[in-house]
Amino acid sequence: ASGLELLRDPRYNKGLAFTEVERDRHYLRGLLPPTVISQELQVERILENVRSYQNPLEKYIALMDLQERNERLFYKVLIDHVEELLPIVYTPVVGEACQKYGNIFRRPHGLYISLKDRGHVLELLKNWPEKNVEVIVVTDGERILGLGDLGLNGMGIPIGKLALYTALGGVRPSSTLPIAIDVGTNNEALLKNPFYIGLRQRRTTGQEYDELLHEFMIACKQAYGEKVLIQFEDFANHNAFRLLQKYATTHLVFNDDIQGTAAVALAGLVAALPITGGTLADHKFLFLGAGEAGTGIAEIIALEVSKQAIRIPMKIRSGLYGTLCCSHQGKITVEEARKAIHLVDSKGLVTKSRYESLQEHKRPYAHEHPPAHDLLSAVKVLKPTVLIGTSGKGGTFTKEVLEEVSSYQDKPIIMALSNPTSQSECTAEEAYKYTKGKCIFASGSPFSPVTYEGKTYVIGQSNNCYIFPGMGLGCTISGAIRVHDDMFLAAAEALAKQINEEHLAKNQLYPAFNEIREISAHIGAAVAAKAYELGLATKLPQPKDLFAYAKSCMYSPNYRQYRKSLLPGATVPRPRL
Ligand code: NAP
Ligand code: MN
Repeated sequence: ASGLELLRDPRYNKGLAFTEVERDRHYLRGLLPPTVISQELQVERILENVRSYQNPLEKYIALMDLQERNERLFYKVLIDHVEELLPIVYTPVVGEACQKYGNIFRRPHGLYISLKDRGHVLELLKNWPEKNVEVIVVTDGERILGLGDLGLNGMGIPIGKLALYTALGGVRPSSTLPIAIDVGTNNEALLKNPFYIGLRQRRTTGQEYDELLHEFMIACKQAYGEKVLIQFEDFANHNAFRLLQKYATTHLVFNDDIQGTAAVALAGLVAALPITGGTLADHKFLFLGAGEAGTGIAEIIALEVSKQAIRIPMKIRSGLYGTLCCSHQGKITVEEARKAIHLVDSKGLVTKSRYESLQEHKRPYAHEHPPAHDLLSAVKVLKPTVLIGTSGKGGTFTKEVLEEVSSYQDKPIIMALSNPTSQSECTAEEAYKYTKGKCIFASGSPFSPVTYEGKTYVIGQSNNCYIFPGMGLGCTISGAIRVHDDMFLAAAEALAKQINEEHLAKNQLYPAFNEIREISAHIGAAVAAKAYELGLATKLPQPKDLFAYAKSCMYSPNYRQYRKSLLPGATVPRPRL
């Protein structure tokens, strides 16, 4: 029986790759066919299987099954073929998986906390077998990608994100914990779906909601200590901003939709500056979508502009950057920087006249301006140099909008950040076609390269998966106890530095994913360095070379030899030797 337990424990199972010696030691003889194959060959076999499925959802299921069966092999496949497989375990296919999560449900994965568990959340956390949890991703499923309220089916997102923490950021899988909080759903179709896995009730709000979330946040610290990183993911914005504000001073938390997205977008903008010329302060930004992603990006741009202006000495600045800087005497405040940023929401341009009825996160951008009822009219009057889509509404960067932006601007930056692909504000092809090849385009979901009039453009994926794995790595290696905005600025700068002339020649604002682990190590080192600088790091002494240290801490999916001392312990009996 003991050998079988080893085969059935995904953390230790190696399938046919168990060596002869291991088969002897761990009672595996007879439980496996006689062939011994290498992990590399297993990777090839898995890939061949995954590729043979026509339906992306089948590919997703095959990979999730593998994760449940043989964790190291899953990560090896994912890491070695990240460009090919990322779109399956992450956006866009994970979106479809969430929509059908109840239907494809096999084995539970992660932790489910529902309204029924009030008063017992800590006990639930204690049911989780791992005690050294370092990173939690939690959702309440209310705003899954651009797909809306998917209730408990949203669990696919924390699972996918944490798979990336490991694959891209090298965080040990055993230290990650995906959590879905079930407070009901307002998705009528799901409520009627017999296969839905969540509570069959409408969403709870107000005090009951807050109390469950509070109990959860307290329990996390009780169970895992001060340094557990909690990433809020895909909460609706009426809770997202509130929760972040409420727990930022007591917990190591961030909201990926607000802050992770902000950092990745900023990195792309900074990377684009050599093409457009000038600095961030020379640009005018218009957002379609004034929610978590939109205002998160807006805020980090304003913050970055304010820091840059202070950093650069006056003499050089007036020489290089002209009158704008001179008139501000070497200082642009965050408030001033916000004036170059405009938001359009579902009701049109955010302006001063709407101030009273605006949600708090939009108010800093309620500038004195005549109303504009839609994006096109806002573009016409404001003439932005950068257009960013964070609306969750596909097709909203229309031909007219794209033509208009390129009519007055030589090299407009167009970012269509909404996910999944179906909700992208425009496709890469549309962006290049309608701007006649003038634009510099990036998107939240993956697009293939576009050739327009003989020139081929590579589409950088402006997705927070460039940032959060490195953020997690940086926090864990430094033992950070709080997340500071400057850590996101550091992450963005580290990412932007990865872009070189070769990328820029193809308008590629983000590096390819095949080097993402190296990049995550750079980001992790930058984040950790900032945490030390700010006095938020607890792991002492500070390693001299943080990049080398980050790399050395990263999880490797290669199989280990199971000698006596490496045995899993509790679940598997000692070998007979
Ligand atoms: P959110 O907080 O709900 O914000 C959505 C915003 O879009 C709201 O301001 C909403 O207006 C506005 N909006 C909706 N329909 C519109 C329309 N037809 N015209 C103009 N504005 C419209 O959502 P979020 O968290 O910001 O996410 C939005 C999208 O960004 C999602 O698709 C998500 O997948 C994507 N996203 C991408 C990344 C990435 O890494 N690329 C990261 C995070 C999020 P009202 O305020 O008036 O309701
Ligand atoms: Mn998200």
